[in-house]
Amino acid sequence: MLTSLTNKSVIVTGGTKGIGKGIAGVFTTLGARVCVIGRNAHDGAAAVEALRGSGGIATFCRGDVTQQRDMEAAVATAVEAFGGIDILCANAGIFPPTPLEEMSERAWDDVFATNLKGMLFSIQAALPHLKHSTAGRIVLTSSITGPLTGYPGWSHYGATKAGMLGFMRTAALELARFKITINAVLPGNVLTDGVRDLGQAYINTMTASIPLKRLGTVEEIGHAVAFFASEEAGFITGQTLVVDGGQTLPESPQALAG
Ligand code: NAP
Repeated sequence: MLTSLTNKSVIVTGGTKGIGKGIAGVFTTLGARVCVIGRNAHDGAAAVEALRGSGGIATFCRGDVTQQRDMEAAVATAVEAFGGIDILCANAGIFPPTPLEEMSERAWDDVFATNLKGMLFSIQAALPHLKHSTAGRIVLTSSITGPLTGYPGWSHYGATKAGMLGFMRTAALELARFKITINAVLPGNVLTDGVRDLGQAYINTMTASIPLKRLGTVEEIGHAVAFFASEEAGFITGQTLVVDGGQTLPESPQALAG
């Protein structure tokens, strides 16, 4: 049980749904105060209602991570509500499948704008406040897709998720003098609205390819994020943690069968 997260101020981008909502739920359960950020105010209100309904302290700030001013305004609202920021979870991301031969400039740019530029804007907006924390933390939601594996249709997505790790390794060096750590969780397939949108056939295929024979839960990703965000993980920076039910392990169908 991580005790050091009590009363910490946390921002979760893309915290209104899916993995981000799971991360937010783990943090509020551990006694942290959480601001979730997303574009859809209805989803934001529903997420806050659910978090508060479980006894958590939570608020919503509307914001688009691709817009620098949105992120500055959202962070300012969170600071006003909580008095500072200790932990930033840069989680917002999109994964619209697009085959390489059909990849338009727009499709490429959209994924890069949300997944990479959005991460940068979130960090830049939060950084002045993280510097004031006694244990500033940044945790990125990357993926197995890109850093470790490939999947047809996700060349742009994989490039952004691998790019997040390249960014992280230099950021870890630049942020060390402020005693801020930055680490990344690499989820495998996790059951979220975004994954449900890919269809039941995709979910069935993924389930069969995971040694533990199920998709992950959003809370299982949240627990990994909470570890990196804790004071207990204070000597870890620039590192990754794969949370994938063993999906990246088998070398062959025989190996998967066990
Ligand atoms: P999801 O269910 O589609 O939720 C995405 C969240 O991000 C929503 O809260 C959405 O809210 C927000 N978001 C999207 N674009 C945004 C923008 N421009 N500005 C602000 N918020 C934005 O997706 P998910 O499956 O939970 O994925 C979350 C993260 O985990 C992503 O980075 C994804 O790459 C990563 N991941 C997911 C899986 C998986 O299996 N699910 C696996 C590996 C990695 P609004 O639409 O209201 O803005």
